[in-house]
Amino acid sequence: MQKVLLAIFAHPDDESFGPGATLAKYAQAGVAVHYLCGTRGEMGSADAEHLQGYADAAEMRWAELTCAAKELGLAGIHHVGFRDSGMAGNESNRHPQALAAQPVETVAARIAHFVRRLKPQVVLTHDTIGGYRHPDHIMLNQATLMFFERMRDFTAFPDPEGLPDYYPQKLYYPVFSRRFLRFFARVLPLFGRDPRKFGRNQDVDLLSLTNVDFPTHVVIDTAGAPAEARARASACHESQLAGGPPRGGLMGLLVRLLGQRDQFMQAYPVVPEGEKMQSDDLFEGVA
Ligand SMILES: [Zn+2]
Repeated sequence: MQKVLLAIFAHPDDESFGPGATLAKYAQAGVAVHYLCGTRGEMGSADAEHLQGYADAAEMRWAELTCAAKELGLAGIHHVGFRDSGMAGNESNRHPQALAAQPVETVAARIAHFVRRLKPQVVLTHDTIGGYRHPDHIMLNQATLMFFERMRDFTAFPDPEGLPDYYPQKLYYPVFSRRFLRFFARVLPLFGRDPRKFGRNQDVDLLSLTNVDFPTHVVIDTAGAPAEARARASACHESQLAGGPPRGGLMGLLVRLLGQRDQFMQAYPVVPEGEKMQSDDLFEGVA
């Protein structure tokens, strides 16, 4: 059986700044790891210096993603087909192609199509608050969840190419320690930083993220080659690294400070509240 892992995140860089080391670890173990990217990162930082040689920000960021995918050892990168949205309230969120502006069903149907094409046993996506409340992240969480909820209903999501149904067995969210986040939010003011205005665009409210807790079900040790691959892949996203840590780098920063391990919450099948689950393999129990 060829093991296939499908990561579904919103932007070129979420794969590397997020659980990049885990993706690299599975790729290094022979798993076919695919990245399904919601947008082409149209709204990311685009300094003239980095844009040189590219038609626009999207082309530049897809080239950076191609570089990162090579470093992580990914089997393929794919585009869900929508456009990057800004944080809540941003003008660009009203663009007709904005990912965050689509009906959830439309996005879920696209996800269904890629799942049928790639046949992953295990899927990763953003958590229910989109990590740091980015509207595109939240949209992909809702759409992926909708696909898992309806995938066995054979009238849901008819395939445009007539591909047969396929059912992944597991869905996980990358999560990070809330205890540490609370500590981090308390320490920031000591350095003259406002934890409610974190990130280069000062649009991440760290305090509001400390109130939502996610259980950790799987911990992946990424020390060594996987962590090194992640560092090289992150460096590919050069345009997003200029001028301080990017928003998407928040999780990466926490991961760096927390040591070389990635944490995941199992979202499907649902782990009953209070039930202890502790694993070191996203494929545990996969038939
Ligand atoms: Zn993102």
